Amino acid sequence: MKMCVRAWVSVVLAGLVAGVAGAQVQGGMASAQSATTTPGVKVGQAAQPAVAGLMPTADDLLRGGYGPYRANNDLLFYHLTLRVDPVAKTIAGTNVVRFRMLEDGRKIQLELTPALTLESIKFEGKDLRYTREERTLFVEFPRLLKRGEVDEVAVAYSGQPVTQGRFGCFSFDKDKEGKPWITTACEGDGASVWWPNKDQWRDEPQDGMEIDVAVPDGLMDVSNGRFVASRDLGDGYTQWQWRVHYPINNYDVALNIGEYQHWDGVHVNKDSGEKTTLDYYALPEDLAKAKVQFAQVPEMLDAYEHYFGEYPFDKDGYKLIEVPYAGMEHQTAVAYGNHFENGYYGRDWTGVGISPKFDFIIIHESGHEWFGNSITAADKSDMWIHEGWTTYMEGLYVEYRWDKTDGIKYLNGLKPKIRNRQAIITARGTNTEPTEDQYFKDALMLNTLRSVIDDDAKWFADIHEFYQHFKYQNIMTEDVVAWWNERTGMDLTPFFSEYLRHAAIPVLELRFDRAKGTVAYRWNADEADFAMPIKMGERGHLTLVKPVTMEWQTMPWTKDPDTLDVPVDLYYVGEKTVEEKP
Ligand SMILES: [Zn+2]
Repeated sequence: MKMCVRAWVSVVLAGLVAGVAGAQVQGGMASAQSATTTPGVKVGQAAQPAVAGLMPTADDLLRGGYGPYRANNDLLFYHLTLRVDPVAKTIAGTNVVRFRMLEDGRKIQLELTPALTLESIKFEGKDLRYTREERTLFVEFPRLLKRGEVDEVAVAYSGQPVTQGRFGCFSFDKDKEGKPWITTACEGDGASVWWPNKDQWRDEPQDGMEIDVAVPDGLMDVSNGRFVASRDLGDGYTQWQWRVHYPINNYDVALNIGEYQHWDGVHVNKDSGEKTTLDYYALPEDLAKAKVQFAQVPEMLDAYEHYFGEYPFDKDGYKLIEVPYAGMEHQTAVAYGNHFENGYYGRDWTGVGISPKFDFIIIHESGHEWFGNSITAADKSDMWIHEGWTTYMEGLYVEYRWDKTDGIKYLNGLKPKIRNRQAIITARGTNTEPTEDQYFKDALMLNTLRSVIDDDAKWFADIHEFYQHFKYQNIMTEDVVAWWNERTGMDLTPFFSEYLRHAAIPVLELRFDRAKGTVAYRWNADEADFAMPIKMGERGHLTLVKPVTMEWQTMPWTKDPDTLDVPVDLYYVGEKTVEEKP
């Protein structure tokens, strides 16, 4: 697993409290939303499917929680060996799970969908007993596994994976020439839909993974990590071997099987000179278009390395792979399906004329290499750490390529997508995905934080240091907030809580007194201690004020109330003029 910043026990306690309260307040979100590495874009599609009233299922609680048979062990390595038959639409293989016991125990928890056949679970050459509950396997050992010992179990399985969810999870498609095109994308539905693993977010195999995939001769499998070799198995199949050198989210593990054409390149970090290998894969019929569109990768890497530091996975390199769905941040094997057009499927994604200048999927999904893959949320409830930061990175990319004005404008173009109907952070331990506000609202929250810091040089140093501090770790919102509090010397807890734990945004209330020549101001916010400093006043000569939630404060204002400027493009807040008391 990646190093956890917080002891699990404290999170479990917080989760029990937040989980119960959240489930009641929100009615639970369960897993009605499918994977949304990128927000839904279809015309007429509701940004947030109706999910009210759904309680977490038994499977959600088993997969979302971190019970004793998960907590008693620490993942070290997965070795997944798989054979994929495109004609029968079946898979068969084995995953060897290596782990270290964190305490004495006789049982561990793994997952595999009951839709697939579990052939055996072997340990030291013998079959293990297990019980199944929903997708979960409670695996029992014939002897006590001692704290500190390293063990391996081999889970053999086979069957026909069920295509499900927005991106299919496991899809047997065909390319335009009718040849097999088989891909996986299972962030929302869980990796155990197609391979057995410890299907949760907190623990990742700290030594990485080997992925060996056999496909019919003539097809190629592109998975995560570094290509090792392809091997003719002599029975009409070729095995493609990939080695992942870093911890990896189970939902990031991917197969991409097709008649891919490959080309490559190298990217050099402008500051450090560090080299990143670039490997690109597209179908033959799309090769020319792909070569033009994928040329956006080096400048994307320039931008993100400028703000956050080196590409996180140089031992594995960066790959961009054509797929039949929109896109997904599969670690070092980024999935691309944006039709080789700029914007999002050719549309101006934030509606302000900037999105058509770049390919939204390349910029968004690749940003996840820093936030989502290197820094990972330890529970799906806190997924804004992936999506809010990565959406904010889109604005940084615009700022890097063009200028700050365009970056701010791009981010403010997200506002119409925000619903503010429920809090971002969901009930912990329930496998509940936040609403799409986690993308847009949280990007604007971070843009607001920049204005609170009010010093761009400091802000850029802060976000660089923030990433560097937490890279390769699995963290929770509390870790984020504690870091920013310490870094800035400010109490930003009410700030983060206001945006992440409540539905509404803060509203700056104004009360003009023409007779006295003043304007009074205060926050209307859900957090009683919300006291965000904000600039307002005369455009071009704004005044920094420090409103609080209860007390009115005043500053001189003799001009027309309509001319008082609250720069809501820099601060994601509402403003409201309150009538004088009669
Ligand atoms: Zn995303």
